[in-house]
Amino acid sequence: MTNTITHWLNNAPFAGSSGATAPVTNPATGVVTGEVALANVDDARAVIDAAAAAFPGWRDTSLAKRVQVLFRFRELINERKEELAAIITAEHGKVLSDALGEVTRGQEVVEFACGIPHLLKGGFTENASTKVDVFSIRQPVGVCGVISPFNFPAMVPMWFFPIAIAAGNTVVIKPSEKDPSAANWTAELWKEAGLPDGVFNVLHGDKTAVDELLTNPTVKAVSFVGSTPIAQYVYATGTANGKRVQALGGAKNHAIVLPDADLDLAADAMVNAGFGSAGERCMAISACVAVGPIADDLVAKISERAATIKTGDGTKDSDMGPLVTKAHRDKVAAYVDAGEEAGAKVVLDGRTVKADGGENGFWLGPTLLDNVTPDMTVYTDEIFGPVLSVLRVETYDEAMALINSNPYGNGTAIFTNDGGAARRFQNEVEVGMVGINVPIPVPMAYFSFGGWKASLFGDSHAHGMDGVQFFTRQKAVTSRWLDPSHGGLNLGFPQNA
Ligand code: NAD
Repeated sequence: MTNTITHWLNNAPFAGSSGATAPVTNPATGVVTGEVALANVDDARAVIDAAAAAFPGWRDTSLAKRVQVLFRFRELINERKEELAAIITAEHGKVLSDALGEVTRGQEVVEFACGIPHLLKGGFTENASTKVDVFSIRQPVGVCGVISPFNFPAMVPMWFFPIAIAAGNTVVIKPSEKDPSAANWTAELWKEAGLPDGVFNVLHGDKTAVDELLTNPTVKAVSFVGSTPIAQYVYATGTANGKRVQALGGAKNHAIVLPDADLDLAADAMVNAGFGSAGERCMAISACVAVGPIADDLVAKISERAATIKTGDGTKDSDMGPLVTKAHRDKVAAYVDAGEEAGAKVVLDGRTVKADGGENGFWLGPTLLDNVTPDMTVYTDEIFGPVLSVLRVETYDEAMALINSNPYGNGTAIFTNDGGAARRFQNEVEVGMVGINVPIPVPMAYFSFGGWKASLFGDSHAHGMDGVQFFTRQKAVTSRWLDPSHGGLNLGFPQNA
């Protein structure tokens, strides 16, 4: 029997009427394991309408009750996160421990959202004018769309929906077609936690589903995470249709290693950040910039460590899984070919990896390129694979110029024992998330996640206080309760006389 992953509305599966589907594949075996529904416009409207119908009831549900549901949801994730990790590994390919890590980082946003009563507290000023009080409140915006990429099928939607729901909104999640099942598993968990019908909905599909979310007037806010061209499109289309939009895009993350750095620490970090999740992370380090005379030593240390990585099926004892699709695997391999042809030195060649997994898996092993120069496509483009490029420069200023002239600005890191250099780096670098001897500086849930430049379109980053602000609208109320002394006409503009 075919495993069909359907939409989800009103706490139940919804087949829709389009009849169109896309295959879902296990990247470690190459076997098609199911198919996911692709919405037509009617299907998309049905899901959005369910979210709209649930909004008034959920908005008016007390904070105390909303938080009880959130706590139950948090407990259920905690008890059953292995199930979700297994689903992620089966459709994305990342190793189980990494999938579990993704779920845990998402869960932290749920925990942050459990504090929503405190986070929504407004300000109150008594007697701003005689007998006049002023206060501010935050109210939910309505139906919120969340469009997510393939690389974090559980965590990225969790950057947004816990806060959106806690704040009283209803949501429609549009997952990646490549690994759609995590969203349905999450929907079932919400149901078990007691979330009312229509508050959390899943819409599967491609551009048709996305376009409906961007143009349907019922949808008030859209959170997007994916590649830069689509992020730009989503931001332009959503805002032109009167929505608030936060659209997080692609990345090309650099790590600078200064001559005084602890080279063992730096080499460990380069391997973890370059090859973890097969480089399919928006915070992966793709370019390692070696400053001064340490380059030979650093390359040797990275190479020695990377050579020990076991590539294979994420359910086995592997360090690194396959890439998500065959097309993506071939595209990444083609970048390595192009780098080699342009003169980069292939220190470690993942194209010939012997993986512990299916013969038809989408394998590419850790690949280390040295002597990469800024004109090579392996450097200019986001690769999103297990390829680490080493660029050699003489000075800190040259390294900084490389980063700041890059169109992306998601994450970056510096490795040094010089506090002054680190402080200068954090001040000068035009990147949204900065690590100091930390290779993947993903902020905690109570801070906000987001890049600069072509890595984010919009004003709000994800989660933290930015998330609370994005999913609420502010209202200021000025009130006067009459007492016997009040009276008289005054046509002047209200002022504090
Ligand atoms: P993608 O842009 O191909 O897809 C993202 C979402 O957009 C998916 O839900 C997809 O169905 C939809 N989509 C794809 N093409 C579309 C189109 N033409 N019109 C409308 N919608 C469309 O991204 P991906 O390949 O799934 O994910 C990888 C990308 O995401 C990388 O560029 C990575 O850097 C980026 N990413 C960024 C962050 C961040 O925080 N900045 C986090 C994770 C991933």
